[in-house]
Amino acid sequence: MRLRSFFSLFFGFLLLLGCSGQSAEPAPIPENKKQALNRGISQVRAYAATIPIHNLYLPPKYSYPRTNKVTHVMIHFISNAVQKPLNPYDVKDVYRIFITYGVSANYMIGRNGEIYRLVSEDRVALHAGKGSLPGFPEHTNKMNEYSIGIEMLAIGTRDEMLPLMPRKMYDLIAPANIGYTDAQYRSLNRLLNEILKRHPTIQRDRKHIVGHSEYAPGRKTDPGKLFDWSRINIITVRNYTVKPGDSLWKIAQKFGVSMQTIIKYNNLNPNVYLKVGQKLRIPQ
Ligand SMILES: [Zn+2]
Repeated sequence: MRLRSFFSLFFGFLLLLGCSGQSAEPAPIPENKKQALNRGISQVRAYAATIPIHNLYLPPKYSYPRTNKVTHVMIHFISNAVQKPLNPYDVKDVYRIFITYGVSANYMIGRNGEIYRLVSEDRVALHAGKGSLPGFPEHTNKMNEYSIGIEMLAIGTRDEMLPLMPRKMYDLIAPANIGYTDAQYRSLNRLLNEILKRHPTIQRDRKHIVGHSEYAPGRKTDPGKLFDWSRINIITVRNYTVKPGDSLWKIAQKFGVSMQTIIKYNNLNPNVYLKVGQKLRIPQ
């Protein structure tokens, strides 16, 4: 108990936010806000035929109307481990972290795969901060405006978390609470399917579905080494140069994809023959 009191005193202010890195003493949630929060967690079937989502909207001042087309999805982790290492995933606590730091995300995925909508997709959430992505110079320091942010309730490796919390506190966290759950991967894939349907400008590959650390290396570690990208339904794109004797059918057979997929992905005219030396991108 004395150990925990010590940490509460000296490290409480660090309030773990995988994404913010800011520090301030969090204000307690007033009673009337708690009631409003409870009401806000009402489950709705926003996409009835597809995926149940809990609406848990953050106040509109933590977002603003979107004007650019969305090209990216950014994955993060967040928890309340610094304040409550034994109970790091209380949704109300994490909600309070967003409020305290004035940040936001469009979605949050809980440990049992429950999906919360914090900010509607037509609004820009404040999750990425400053950074840049190779190949997207126009996104530099503006990734919020081009992306949908998804927070996973998760905790990274000790090395990833030590900048935010002391080792002894990290060691209080139950092993089952470190990393990601199967249910979270399932929900993330379902959510990505829905998002990509609504935003065809987001390509289903690792250039467009990215982690916070790829945009802000050195500043951010989330979603971290424990996030298994191979479990996300992302297309790997291979480059192929058309050879003599090739046909669309032969290439499709070679890579085990449909001709339609190649046509669509390369914006080909199916009535025009391929040319030797032509570069194709083959999604797999
Ligand atoms: Zn983040």
